[in-house]
Amino acid sequence: AKQVAPGSHVFFSQEMADEIQDRLRISNDLQQALANNELDLYFQPQQQVADNKPVGMEALLRWIPPGKKTIPPSVFIPVAEETSLICDIGNWVLQQACACFQRWQHSSLPLGNLSVNISARHFHSPDFIARLTVLMQQYPGCRHNLTLEVTEGVFLENLTESRSRMAHIKALGVNLSIDDFGTGYSSFAYLRELPVDELKLDRSFIQYIDQRPQDKAIIACLLDLARTLGMSVVAEGVETEQQLATLAELNCPAYQGYLRAHPMSEADLIAWLEKH
Ligand code: C2E
Ligand code: CA
Ligand code: CA
Ligand code: CA
Repeated sequence: AKQVAPGSHVFFSQEMADEIQDRLRISNDLQQALANNELDLYFQPQQQVADNKPVGMEALLRWIPPGKKTIPPSVFIPVAEETSLICDIGNWVLQQACACFQRWQHSSLPLGNLSVNISARHFHSPDFIARLTVLMQQYPGCRHNLTLEVTEGVFLENLTESRSRMAHIKALGVNLSIDDFGTGYSSFAYLRELPVDELKLDRSFIQYIDQRPQDKAIIACLLDLARTLGMSVVAEGVETEQQLATLAELNCPAYQGYLRAHPMSEADLIAWLEKH
């Protein structure tokens, strides 16, 4: 907490008060939304760069209050992350995503791999591994087909604890991916010590890959690093044919982005996969 000198006054501006009010309201509404089934999972396909073959999909959360506009996760996830609400939401997402995936496995659709985002607080929660264990028993079809996406921040505070958690997760047949890779201002030394299967190259590097030689050089370098370490790579946020061509030139294995597919409902995903 901030140190306040004796005798000084702390002023809260109206703006700060409004901000706190907003967060409280979102948090309360979100709790209700979870109970009232107002949350929904969308899925964004991932494809091979070389031939556009589908290789998987990322589950992305949507909040659709009845009669209102969809609220994007960038608004409510950060609020949920301030409390254990993110664990309830994360568990709901995991359960829902695995149920969908196992259902789809009855079809002959080219599913590939299912990716789910996991917040740091959820990852480090005491019953995370136990719950994941139960989930894999409940949905055995997801074993070896489920990838957890975590950001670098997850294991920066406690590397030893993270390493043991990751080993447990791997032992359950669940894969691990580093999301938004390269944006976390961290050294890459942790990659030596952690059982990471995949790197997701952040959209901020892809966005100007054809305008900024520096960005292209960084991508080339990260791809080399992943190859050397035996990790797969997904480039995020591919929006133009030119970006995709450049990723092909650099031998990037996989991508996702608005160019070929936006996040979509389960029904739309099935229709999309049927065409591919
Ligand atoms: P993220 O994990 O980095 O997900 C990628 C975001 O980029 C998604 O935004 C996706 O819709 C968007 N995106 C995909 N392709 C493109 C593109 O070509 N151009 C642009 N401009 N954007 C693209 P979305 O769905 O709004 O999610 C935002 C963030 O919210 C996610 O970023 C993730 O950090 C978080 N999030 C979403 N769902 C969940 C969830 O179930 N659990 C947790 N913990 N976080 C989630
Ligand atoms: Ca992600
Ligand atoms: Ca990402
Ligand atoms: Ca991102």
